[in-house]
Amino acid sequence: MADGSSRPQADEHFDVLIVGAGLSGVGAGWHLQNAAPDRSYVILEGRDAIGGTWDLFRYPGIRSDSDMYTLGYAFKPWTEAKAIADGPSILKYVRETAAEHGIDRHIRYGHKVTAAAWSSEDACWTVTATRADGATVRLTASFIFLCGGYYSYDGGYTPDFPGAADFKGEIVHPQKWPEGLDYAGKRVVVIGSGATAVTLVPAMAGKAAHVTMLQRSPTYVVSRPAEDALANSLRKWLPSRLAYHLIRWRNVLFGMWFFRLARNKPEAVKKNIIDMVRQQLGPEFDVGTHFTPRYNPWDQRLCLVPDADLFEALKAGTASVVTDHIETFDATGIQLKSGQHLDADVIVTATGLTLQVMNGLTLTVDGRAVDPGQTLSYKGMMYEGVPNLASAFGYTNASWTLKCDLTCEYVCRVLNHMKATGLRQVTPHNDDPAIERQPWLDFSSGYVTRAMEKFPKQGSRAPWRLHQNYAMDLMSLRYAKLEDGALKFSNPSAAKTRARQAA
Ligand SMILES: Cc1cc2nc3c(=O)[nH]c(=O)nc-3n(C[C@H](O)[C@H](O)[C@H](O)COP(=O)(O)OP(=O)(O)OC[C@H]3O[C@@H](n4cnc5c(N)ncnc54)[C@H](O)[C@@H]3O)c2cc1C
Repeated sequence: MADGSSRPQADEHFDVLIVGAGLSGVGAGWHLQNAAPDRSYVILEGRDAIGGTWDLFRYPGIRSDSDMYTLGYAFKPWTEAKAIADGPSILKYVRETAAEHGIDRHIRYGHKVTAAAWSSEDACWTVTATRADGATVRLTASFIFLCGGYYSYDGGYTPDFPGAADFKGEIVHPQKWPEGLDYAGKRVVVIGSGATAVTLVPAMAGKAAHVTMLQRSPTYVVSRPAEDALANSLRKWLPSRLAYHLIRWRNVLFGMWFFRLARNKPEAVKKNIIDMVRQQLGPEFDVGTHFTPRYNPWDQRLCLVPDADLFEALKAGTASVVTDHIETFDATGIQLKSGQHLDADVIVTATGLTLQVMNGLTLTVDGRAVDPGQTLSYKGMMYEGVPNLASAFGYTNASWTLKCDLTCEYVCRVLNHMKATGLRQVTPHNDDPAIERQPWLDFSSGYVTRAMEKFPKQGSRAPWRLHQNYAMDLMSLRYAKLEDGALKFSNPSAAKTRARQAA
């Protein structure tokens, strides 16, 4: 082989194998084409469609809950009027990006990646994927970039509700919304209080006979205009790329400031958010029970509602909120612990996602199984002892793409460094015993705490710490030197390679 390497038997070899053709995978394709254009790459996508989240979720009102100036890519301005955008517009944006740059030609649909085995002798991954027709495909790759998101596509999380089998109406999970579900004139109960529930309730209200949001405990809900007036007028006066970057930076800085404030002065921020809800709903509404969480702002993700749509539906009486615990489902609805009964024709279980680690792949390094829960993450994107692999994992307190764009840049820097030095293996190593292991995310939401044991750990100090802060990541991923003592670049031992080639 031209580079002196040997490789395991496989159908094809790529320099980079990207898992997933969602927002992150398409972004990764763009960055590779832009910064490492001579590297071959393929995107393996398990489904038959591009767009990930924005193609999968089809429930009424599906939309972003962060602004598109930061959820959009740094390299492609978001030019639509709405900053809080609907799902189909985001899907169109991802598709457009892939088509404009020919990234779509690199995608292989119906290829679910199940395993990857690293061989240090060959400095190469052997990747196994299952095709939609059931066939197994084997490819080799010098580098794997996991861009498959953070939750399972097999199904969302639904607790075991007692009596669910007795319910005579329809039970629906937002992740598998039945096409053409007719809820006109029906009584709908949406179980949940997160981003999905606060999206669904106003979207279904008005058409349904009534929508009840049933929550066990309240969430912080903040209203923002769906359209960003400043952004829309700046676009009229400035070139769209410049306007986009100005607004993107304003939103990044505002988000970081607000998050810091929430962490430093939780009581003040709590009061402010709750006062705003009171202003929206008026003095008669029981904001104390329904919109005053027990935790502090940003201990869990804040819910954003565009143009106060949720509050408008509550004021109009087309929707209501009930804070209570479920005793049991029965034939006609839900019996609550308080004694109240909610009559329902349709129950929507907006009870969350099932988080998934490493895109569901079984990883081995030189025959040794990798236990993701035992590994330490390096800069929130590579893993101790796992060579030539990175993952795109966005922020929980800001838009996902902000971090993914930086991660893609960093991966390209690493690949270019390897090319320039002729070193084919890169592995994070921690030899500092003082580094404490901490959970990957410090959110208190149930769907997060349920999964944290299986997730890699972050370390107490850089470069093992997960910043959740764009400015710090900018320094750490765009500008910090690659050879920092923790990231080790190497080659398969020459003796081993010679012995192997001779064999
Ligand atoms: C309803 C909803 C709303 C959201 N709103 C926001 C928001 O407003 N702002 C924000 O920042 N974040 C939001 N998020 C988080 C959101 O998922 C990310 O913003 C972003 O869409 C993630 O993109 P991704 O490409 O990393 O992952 P995904 O969108 O999940 O796409 C992953 C792709 O990889 C594929 N894949 C996964 N595993 C494999 C495998 N093993 N083999 C092959 N293919 C695989 C999947 O089929 C999918 O196509 C939201 C999430 C949900 C569920």
